[in-house]
Amino acid sequence: MTASPQDRRPQPKPWIEAIHAYVPGRSSGADGKPVIKLSANENPLGTSALALSARRDAGRPCDYPNPDSTDLRAALANAHGLDAARIVCGTGSDELLNLAAQGFAGPGDEVIYVRYGFAVYDIAARRCGATPVVAPDKDYGTDVDALLACVTDRTRVVFVANPNNPTGSYIPASELARLHAGLPSDVLLVVDQAYGEYLTAEEDDGGFALAAAHDNVLVTRTFSKIFGLAGDRIGWATGAPHLIDILNRIRGPFNVGLVGQAGAVAALRDTDFVRSSREHNSAERTRFVAAMESLGNHGIRPLPSKANFVLVLFEGALQAETVFGALLEAGYAVRHLPGQGLPHGLRITIGTAAQMDAVTAVIQRLAEQSA
Ligand SMILES: *Cc1c(COP(=O)(O)O)cnc(C)c1O
Repeated sequence: MTASPQDRRPQPKPWIEAIHAYVPGRSSGADGKPVIKLSANENPLGTSALALSARRDAGRPCDYPNPDSTDLRAALANAHGLDAARIVCGTGSDELLNLAAQGFAGPGDEVIYVRYGFAVYDIAARRCGATPVVAPDKDYGTDVDALLACVTDRTRVVFVANPNNPTGSYIPASELARLHAGLPSDVLLVVDQAYGEYLTAEEDDGGFALAAAHDNVLVTRTFSKIFGLAGDRIGWATGAPHLIDILNRIRGPFNVGLVGQAGAVAALRDTDFVRSSREHNSAERTRFVAAMESLGNHGIRPLPSKANFVLVLFEGALQAETVFGALLEAGYAVRHLPGQGLPHGLRITIGTAAQMDAVTAVIQRLAEQSA
């Protein structure tokens, strides 16, 4: 048999070939027209004015950025009462989630996450050749017992987003502590707190405390959500020095840009902007959830959310896909995730009051028409 031309091309590793590329939220309509994006959990209030000004004065683009994000790590340590030596910054928390898998898992190992967990975990597990293991959910939320039941002697990493994307679900500190206590000490628990700043102080899940006290907990956070710096790609993680050391060895050497480092330091200082973003989100989310709950007789069910979006389930005559199309027609892109086993749900980012009114009106009209 002669080799076909395809066989002579560079061959991807089989575990890489099994990856489905991450599908970002839509930013244009069917006709390519720009739409209002309620599909990527960006901050509808934009970015802090302090951060914008610091970005403008960041420095010369011909110079490499500080390779260790030194000022940013100091500012993070100060803001959260952490040790800067236990912090690593990344090109978005995305980079750090991937490095956590790559640093501690490989072919033959297992990486666990919960069903309807963040889509990046599957990619992160496969990228390093590990086997993703999906734990069953509990009504779309994280089920600690189900996660623990998936642990085997091959388990190396467990990913939990808290609050979780795309469901908005959340487990309290007692449950997170129970999850950690149930894991073998050589399994890395990654607590992804991308939406951590949307929680109130009373809702703190204790992730930082776990990461400070134990050798096997990494907490990740991002500047992409409440801080409104998604375009700059800045994330960070905290954990024991031996964990941070591994991530430092394999991260990109200049992984956070000059502009992003300057913007993030200033964004951390603008606590007023963060507070108003949190308050805006909480008020609009409450209003939107109530409006969706009032359509319960049409099979519409908003899942309880602690984040800056709501997953609305369409379990009656009105289909999620129909609503998705009508919203796009009206100029709003939301997130439909059939590929993640959610053909009956739409993840809708909390936007401005006017945007939420418009989205609500479209859904109300369709619900009444479908009755
Ligand atoms: C948005 C999000 C992230 C953050 O991604 P970045 O790479 O920091 O922009 C991480 N985890 C979850 C669950 C998210 O929803």
